[in-house]
Amino acid sequence: MTKLTLNKRLLATGFAFIILCAGLIGFSPSKPSVANAATVTYTATANLNVRTGPSTANKIIATVKQGTKLTVTGKNENGWLKVSLNGQTGYVSGQYVKISNSSSSTATVTYTATANLNVRTGPSTANKIIATVKQGTKLTVTGKNENGWLKVSLNGQTGYVSGQYVKVSNPSSSTATVTYTATANLNVRTGPSTANKIIATVKQGTKLTVTGKNENGWLKVSLNGQTGYVSSQYVKVSNPSSDDIQVVAKPESIPVLVNKKNKLPENYVPKDLVYTSIPFTFKEKTEKRKMRSEAAAAISKLFAESKKQGVSLLGVSAYRSHATQVALFDYYVKRDGYAKAITYSALPGTSEHETGLAIDVTGGNGKCAAQDCFGGTKEAKWLQAHADDYGFIIRYPKGKESVTGYKYEPWHLRYVGKAIAQTIMSQGLTLEEYYYTRAVQN
Ligand SMILES: [Zn+2]
Repeated sequence: MTKLTLNKRLLATGFAFIILCAGLIGFSPSKPSVANAATVTYTATANLNVRTGPSTANKIIATVKQGTKLTVTGKNENGWLKVSLNGQTGYVSGQYVKISNSSSSTATVTYTATANLNVRTGPSTANKIIATVKQGTKLTVTGKNENGWLKVSLNGQTGYVSGQYVKVSNPSSSTATVTYTATANLNVRTGPSTANKIIATVKQGTKLTVTGKNENGWLKVSLNGQTGYVSSQYVKVSNPSSDDIQVVAKPESIPVLVNKKNKLPENYVPKDLVYTSIPFTFKEKTEKRKMRSEAAAAISKLFAESKKQGVSLLGVSAYRSHATQVALFDYYVKRDGYAKAITYSALPGTSEHETGLAIDVTGGNGKCAAQDCFGGTKEAKWLQAHADDYGFIIRYPKGKESVTGYKYEPWHLRYVGKAIAQTIMSQGLTLEEYYYTRAVQN
């Protein structure tokens, strides 16, 4: 079975990106980096442990038999490979795998332009146009970058086109597979109509490997080695940028880094959530009042002390369950479309509110709750100066959008513990910079 793959040279570039991605460059939304959206199939050369992270110190989540084919989506500098196994992400040592028969891993995929389409020298509209192809033109795609741009081969020349104006050509003419994401809980059936038996129901968000499409809009999928059919009404092509999101290894760690590139494991629920004792902008006793116990105690102290100093605060929103974030994100996608929603709302699993360590606050009058106008208020200034004394940081500072991935949010406090908070706030850092620069401090 062929996969949407890059040639080896491009692959090396993709792997380099993975390493960079651990650094700050990965957070810059405007930097068009060639990424590793394409997958490569490897074969295990021995019985092989799949772990939660890229070293033997990490937990084993599965052991695969010699000869098993693995879908590799990235590589780290120590030679560990990131693999996708039955929809789960894991890591295997690069010592015990080899690239599967290259005939199956160097395939190209044919796309069709859905509009007259500019071909450019690089993967963004900032690059020069080298050709304009007519709607309906077939394009040979050899790679894909994280911004959704495709690398194409056109009359022997290499160029880039926006992924927005192309679709995969009829798979009957290309045997490549494409990953789709279920947009609702979805029945997988034995054949391409609802008259066929249900063999499985997959959850919303599940990634599906689509190997074919029939004329009625049903998709042939490969699910845990089995073939089935799903209605194309409830799937969308997976966003390639989500493929290089890492799952955080220790979600329960107090200074855990959660952002657009580091997400919480599926179904993570903090174990020590408690209701905070502070006043909120609303009266109801909902999950939004909860925080993890250490953070809840700290926010009570912060509120008590600010009040003594004549600064009154209200909570707006603290904990948000994964289900709530999923519902919220879906609502925004329906309202504004995925491309826009992703710019202001966190993809489920990547919201700090799901950690139980973040809280949005506002002034005692309740105005400007989670709005730009909170910036510059007496309350915002007090928080900037004192939050770290209670273990909190202003998580999304002004001027650090390209590092955090978020615009300035003076209202979003994140508990990291007092020592780290003081380092971050006194040095004008972000949590990302704290992690990536602390080795050279002291
Ligand atoms: Zn927030």
